[in-house]
Amino acid sequence: MERSEALVLTVGVNAAEVEGQLASGELECPWCGGVLARWGWAQARVLRGSGGPVRVRPRRGRCGRCGVTHVLLPVFALARRVDLVEVIGAALAAKAAGAGARSIAAACGRPVDTVRGWLRRFGSRAGLVRAFFIGLLVEVGVDPVPPAPAPSVFADAVAAVAGAAVAALSRWPGIGEVPPWWLACAASGGRLLAPGWPEKLINTSSL
Ligand SMILES: [Zn+2]
Repeated sequence: MERSEALVLTVGVNAAEVEGQLASGELECPWCGGVLARWGWAQARVLRGSGGPVRVRPRRGRCGRCGVTHVLLPVFALARRVDLVEVIGAALAAKAAGAGARSIAAACGRPVDTVRGWLRRFGSRAGLVRAFFIGLLVEVGVDPVPPAPAPSVFADAVAAVAGAAVAALSRWPGIGEVPPWWLACAASGGRLLAPGWPEKLINTSSL
């Protein structure tokens, strides 16, 4: 039976580069490893960055092997979230540092219920997120040093994300200044706050 539901695949920020990768068969289906080919465009959408609205019209790719279509989201966007990962990541970091939902909401200009939703989802699987990013840190780090224990599991998970970003930079200095939350987005396949946490879905090549 042919699968056809759309999934999300995290790709680079540069649209021309993504076109080239699709044209030359460099993008792999995370589902089966087949080659993705161009398959039209997903619906245009307006996302919210820290500096204002960001318009994106993601490419769609279709796997030649299993037939699944993937929405190719740039690495700054999370699946099913209107706010960019830089905004959500800053909120998670503020919570880890002890801030409450109200002050975080005021600081980032988002409704407090929205912020509570991010914190709740991240907090509900902070242990898994921590384990995932510590694993990534150890796997890619040149001389990996796991972060010291933080006062909460939530803060431990945020520290693991930051630690994995440092480790990635030590392995691939050429990637330059990549925001840590972009790495979190790429490594989780955009699912940092989506239902279901990927057990094994590392896509650091899109950095
Ligand atoms: Zn496939």
